[in-house]
Amino acid sequence: MASSDTIFGRILRGEIPCDQVHADDRCLAFRDVAPQAPVHILIIPREPLENLLDAEPGHAELLGHLLLVAARVARQEGLEGFRTVINSGAEAGQTVFHLHVHVIGGRPLAWPPG
Ligand code: C5P
Repeated sequence: MASSDTIFGRILRGEIPCDQVHADDRCLAFRDVAPQAPVHILIIPREPLENLLDAEPGHAELLGHLLLVAARVARQEGLEGFRTVINSGAEAGQTVFHLHVHVIGGRPLAWPPG
């Protein structure tokens, strides 16, 4: 399935609503519908990459931007510590095949993750 056909593609096109916390010309950030912590935000690029395995050297600036937005929304949420997660591939637990950065915080987080 092309990543533009995923649920995140539909959110980007405004076909289904989301609880938006940040938007710019390259990405959108919104609250996860099934939060795993008091703060759980997803940052997705407008460009439909499936996951990091789809990224090429030309995406370096975009990937850096996604991480800077992660820090920005974490600050916005008042988090002093947080975790960023990018699941790439079904084996890693990816369920929506449109690249996304999870920002998770607001409670103590165990390591290693499951
Ligand atoms: O990394 P992974 O692909 O497993 O994460 C997908 C995330 O997208 C899940 O945390 C899920 O709760 C979230 N999701 C969402 N809104 C949807 C569908 C999935 O926030 N409509």
